[in-house]
Amino acid sequence: MPVTDFAALALAPALLSTLQELNYQQMTPIQQQSLPAILAGKDVIAQAQTGSGKTAAFALGMLSALQVKRFRIQGLVLCPTRELAEQVAKELRTLGRSIHNIKVLTLCGGVPSKHQILSLEHGAHFIVGTPGRVLDHLQQQRLDLSELRMLVLDEADRMLDMGFLDEVARIAAAMPAKRQTLLFSATYPDKIEQLAASLMQQPVRVSVSSSQATSSIEQQFYALESSSREQAVMLVLQQLQPASCVVFCNTKRVTQQLADALQQQGFSAKALHGDLEQKDRDQTLLQFANKSARILVATDVAARGLDISELDLVINAELAHDTDTHTHRIGRTGRAGAKGLAVTLADSKDDYKLSLLQDTLSDAIQLQPLPPLSLLDQAPAKAEMVTLQIQGGKKQKLRPGDIVGALTRDQQIAFEDVGKIQLHDLWAYVAVKRSAAKKALQILNHDKMKGRNFRAWQL
Ligand code: AMP
Repeated sequence: MPVTDFAALALAPALLSTLQELNYQQMTPIQQQSLPAILAGKDVIAQAQTGSGKTAAFALGMLSALQVKRFRIQGLVLCPTRELAEQVAKELRTLGRSIHNIKVLTLCGGVPSKHQILSLEHGAHFIVGTPGRVLDHLQQQRLDLSELRMLVLDEADRMLDMGFLDEVARIAAAMPAKRQTLLFSATYPDKIEQLAASLMQQPVRVSVSSSQATSSIEQQFYALESSSREQAVMLVLQQLQPASCVVFCNTKRVTQQLADALQQQGFSAKALHGDLEQKDRDQTLLQFANKSARILVATDVAARGLDISELDLVINAELAHDTDTHTHRIGRTGRAGAKGLAVTLADSKDDYKLSLLQDTLSDAIQLQPLPPLSLLDQAPAKAEMVTLQIQGGKKQKLRPGDIVGALTRDQQIAFEDVGKIQLHDLWAYVAVKRSAAKKALQILNHDKMKGRNFRAWQL
């Protein structure tokens, strides 16, 4: 019988209690297979998808090896995107919250270097970043990896796809050869093998078969026939009424067009693709995560770092160009045991791609007719929450408690009606139930927080 209990591992009691508090009761298959080797200090190549629990697997390895009193960079995680890096840093901090004074720093492109330089001067134990920016700091001699003991390449296949091979190699050249290297990748093309050969020593290989990884995902296929793609997506959305759904398209142009069309018809939809400003992308991800937007229409690249645990539907508005991408997309629903649904729209031009996909599935693909047009007569469901932006943040010493406190004072707004709060340096976002939005804006614009008035508006 496989050992599935975290307690069977050589983990510090404090880490075990954190896992218990987080309600991580059993190891996921990839954790069962990789953690013993990771904790034994071996190099490990793990073939694992997003949603498999891979982040916790390497994070627990890093946290176990950490010597917190040695204030040197001991671990580096390289990720393809900033969103993923931020998510990894978050998981490291969460899992490592019992370790006093632990410092995790993110170094990603797309944001100014100024704060990163300051933070680097203060030192850190772990760095999580994107290869370009990490190399940049290294070359400017702001980053010292000479005492690094663990290197993690997360979503290595994506990093190679994005052309980061050279950066990764140059970063690795700046660290001791005697170290532990972990490589996580959803797919396993030849170039990963070459990368592993150049960076790793006698790696242990583990994988979770894609049927095991995706078994909790039900796939449905619809034939487009005479319907437009836009209309077909609307029909599926109206039929299934998901609370949160990602719709994938193959190009930025189609992504934007589809999001526009959905918005025009009253759907709570937002576009996410690389042509948007970083600020807009951040706000979109925020609104999706805090339930102010139900539908995210995204390209594969833009959706890479997305971590939404309660995604109940993935729609492939266009069939992905290859099977790996398809698997990646649908892996975003049905995470960590929850059942997910993936709907794929296909037209006659997709026959070849469908036949390749069929080879990877145990059940026969059956193209169903689209749901009835009459579904479009009903108004689409609105998002449960709305996001309010407050012109004040950490610099003004605002804390989440100040915002919740102001909103719920004298029971003006119920505690349950206040959702996620995100604080930045100069502003903050708070999600509130749609029905409480007007009242919340009134309070935020008229009542004082930290002894002063702030401006607030709805996004
Ligand atoms: P990942 O594959 O790293 O993106 O993880 C997917 C999700 O599963 C994350 O939200 C984790 O917090 C969660 N997770 C990871 N390991 C476990 C576990 N053993 N039990 C329950 N949830 C987990």
